[in-house]
Amino acid sequence: MPTTTVEPGVYTKDGQVYEVKQSRRFAGSLTIKRLEVSRGKLRRRPSPIRVEDLSSSDAISEEQAAAFGHEHGICACCGRALSDPESVAKGIGPVCLANLRRMRGAR
Ligand SMILES: [Zn+2]
Repeated sequence: MPTTTVEPGVYTKDGQVYEVKQSRRFAGSLTIKRLEVSRGKLRRRPSPIRVEDLSSSDAISEEQAAAFGHEHGICACCGRALSDPESVAKGIGPVCLANLRRMRGAR
């Protein structure tokens, strides 16, 4: 069985957006939630897929994060509303963009 190599972060697969986080209850294990925007807020829903179903190549790209931000006015990575004009234009906040670049550069 392949061990999962994904890191905490935001992923996309089959048109859905997923958030992988460290589990608060189980040290060293990861939890996955499906992200959904409802009435302008980012909601975390139970995921139909498992962390093991993701690979590092499913990590959200800058373009995908920007498309999400432009569509919903929310940063795909942290769920905050994009208000700064530069962030609105980019579709992603500056901290999250840096994180995303680091995460994608790490693979
Ligand atoms: Zn963000």
